[in-house]
Amino acid sequence: MSWEAVIGLEVHVQLRTERKLFCGNRVVFGDAPNTHVCPVCLGLPGALPTTNPQAVELALRTALALGCTVHLRSVWARKNYFYPDLPKGYQTTQFEEPIATAGLVAFDDADGVERVVRITRAHMEEDAGKSIHDRIPGNTAVDLNRAGTPLVEIVTEPDLRSAADARAFLVSLKQLLEYVDVSDCNMEEGSLRVDANVSVRTKGETELGAKTEIKNVNSFSGVEKAVEIEIARQIEVLEAGGSVEQETLLWDDHRGRLRSMRSKEDSHDYRYFPCPDLPPLVIEQAVVDAARAQLPELPRARRDRFTDAYGLSVYDAGVLTQSVATADYFEAVAAAAGDSKAAANWVMGPAQALMNERKEDATTFPVAAAALGELIGLVADGTVSDGAAKKVLTILAEDGGSPKAIVEAQGLTQVRDDDQLAGWVSEVVEELTDEVTRYREGETRLLGFLMGQVMKRSGGKADPRRVNELLRDALGS
Ligand code: ADP
Ligand code: MG
Repeated sequence: MSWEAVIGLEVHVQLRTERKLFCGNRVVFGDAPNTHVCPVCLGLPGALPTTNPQAVELALRTALALGCTVHLRSVWARKNYFYPDLPKGYQTTQFEEPIATAGLVAFDDADGVERVVRITRAHMEEDAGKSIHDRIPGNTAVDLNRAGTPLVEIVTEPDLRSAADARAFLVSLKQLLEYVDVSDCNMEEGSLRVDANVSVRTKGETELGAKTEIKNVNSFSGVEKAVEIEIARQIEVLEAGGSVEQETLLWDDHRGRLRSMRSKEDSHDYRYFPCPDLPPLVIEQAVVDAARAQLPELPRARRDRFTDAYGLSVYDAGVLTQSVATADYFEAVAAAAGDSKAAANWVMGPAQALMNERKEDATTFPVAAAALGELIGLVADGTVSDGAAKKVLTILAEDGGSPKAIVEAQGLTQVRDDDQLAGWVSEVVEELTDEVTRYREGETRLLGFLMGQVMKRSGGKADPRRVNELLRDALGS
């Protein structure tokens, strides 16, 4: 039988606010446990929450980036459950009336085909604290620094059809969130957490099958692996004549295994009700309009513009728009160089290689776009060879300075004077008689060797294109 997988994701995004959602404690990762807590996030009786406007602003921007309808009035709800890392006994979230619904996010699958995932909703909520199992032997400790951190939960429709697509979608979603600068999206620190809902059905079937929910996945490769394993398991169960049990599964990244956590609870188990301590969240239409107007160009739009305006391939445009910083850097280099294709090659090639080597990215790379643009100009007008220009780039990164001055100081100016070049060429042709004869007898691949000899004599400074011409002339080919 032929099976089809169906996947829907719930993604928790930690908003990049300075302070918690309902109190004034700072949001910090990695500080001493329980040093950023107060009566509000501890849920002490009588403490009253107030909503952090910065969190609302970031949630609004998230909603707009997802192409959602923003609701001017949304309602805080209490989701009640007992867990040691939830001192209030309930999580403040949004349930029946979330801030945003009905969005769309596009991504490219492994074959480069555009796919669209519908976003069911995006709602604001607070994070819980953390249970820590490895700090006190035999006991579980609780750190409430994270309690009350603002999150947006993004829920997709079950529109994904493979583990690889789930991963590709998440990569695009992360890029989108980074573009609008709402979260640092640091998966190791838990700023982006994914629950994956998985079911399978026979191809052609339109009803959804029973699903399981995989929790605790904190890397994209983890999502892909966990979903793949779960799809295979469900198919095996169904093919053996069994049925898939609705349950919550926990991903163990270390062992690469899923284990059953609990049978699935229903939403009524949480006894949701509107929070009596918080008024509904009301946003002015003018604020929504302003946020929309201030939205930066989003990744796919920017990629499309790069192909149109700069004549780049979709692949190159995709690489150059991976991050806002890289895209900005490329555009500045292209403007300075006056040649977008050369700029693309330099930014993706030697500059990127140097950034990797120096463990930097476009935000920290010390070579100013203007300097790289100037250097590209020096290659274009023949002042320096490609190879010498790479040397200049390294010097620029290490010591700064002007490309032209470096070329002069290092004696890297390309030799293009025909007399000088012809001198080196005839030296080589006269001395290496053996290779020259073999070349003339048809061993044409020796041209590269002879070229190399001429370049060597010039100290790497000869203009290779002209040397090639002169050498061919001298060899009579
Ligand atoms: P629940 O009631 O279990 O919370 P929801 O209907 O709220 O389920 O959906 C939660 C997530 O699960 C959504 O991302 C949704 O797209 C996804 N989902 C729902 N049903 C299925 C299914 N049969 N197979 C795969 N994903 C599903
Ligand atoms: Mg649900």
